[in-house]
Amino acid sequence: MQIVFIGPPGAGKGTQSLRLSDYLQIPILSTGDMLRAVCKQQTEVGKQAVQYMESGHLVPDHLVEKIVLDRMSESDCQGGCILDGFPRTIAQAVNLDAWLAERNCPLNVVIEIRVSEDVLLERLAVRGRQDDDHEIIRLRLKQYAKLTYPLIDYYEQFDLHKVIDGIGTADEVFDRLQGIVDSIECTKDR
Ligand code: AMP
Repeated sequence: MQIVFIGPPGAGKGTQSLRLSDYLQIPILSTGDMLRAVCKQQTEVGKQAVQYMESGHLVPDHLVEKIVLDRMSESDCQGGCILDGFPRTIAQAVNLDAWLAERNCPLNVVIEIRVSEDVLLERLAVRGRQDDDHEIIRLRLKQYAKLTYPLIDYYEQFDLHKVIDGIGTADEVFDRLQGIVDSIECTKDR
């Protein structure tokens, strides 16, 4: 199964991806984690990405796409994967679609985790990551609204978009997620 998670920072994509990965036994590709790793290793890409990440901007499409698509080519992703944090722009989505179409394995579902801005701000304030500083959070939310939210319309046209309420305990949110994934598995089996 090829699954994309969409949601603003603090929506719970990371927590829910972990659970879903365990449930479906497919790997998670978190672009945030992958980018933080290359920044730490100070690779060429890492050196270019770090300035964008620290300031709350999106890393340029070509840098992120290279990292994700290389990772998706590895053997453990043959049965699908969970994309947490990718795509985040329409250009990334179009290039991902083209890449998947060439391999004849289109996306199965795009799941949006929806959480109100008040709750996001509360959650991010206690998370304490370096890019969770108040001003940077505001910028990241703005970037989400401007660059990533349009993906919802983009995926609507292919009937791939599903939304779940991200408010509640991790168990409650996962129940909603499981409902969606199970219904897709059933349709696939038919
Ligand atoms: P995250 O951990 O998903 O919140 O990502 C942390 C940061 O990594 C973001 O604020 C961006 O700077 C960068 N990033 C992660 N995924 C992407 C992506 N798909 N496109 C561009 N930048 C990204």
